[in-house]
Amino acid sequence: MKSRIDRCDRCVGELTAGQTTLEIWQAEELLVIRDVPADVCPQCDEAYISAAVSEQLDHFLSEYHQHRPERYLAVPQFSLAQVTEG
Ligand SMILES: [Zn+2]
Repeated sequence: MKSRIDRCDRCVGELTAGQTTLEIWQAEELLVIRDVPADVCPQCDEAYISAAVSEQLDHFLSEYHQHRPERYLAVPQFSLAQVTEG
């Protein structure tokens, strides 16, 4: 996770306070965490999370099995063979 800055280091867009959704792989599980406070780039959608929030996320990820997910999502999966067959 990146530290807090005023401008996007990808496209130099001016960051605004907002929220983002994180997708994090933990071993074989994909976790989605929504409503994460972040500074968001309006140009490229890159999100920057504060050190404090990053620490909270690290703590949550160390014990997420103790929490009941608010819901489960069905995620479609494809192979590259399907992509290249047009
Ligand atoms: Zn940007």
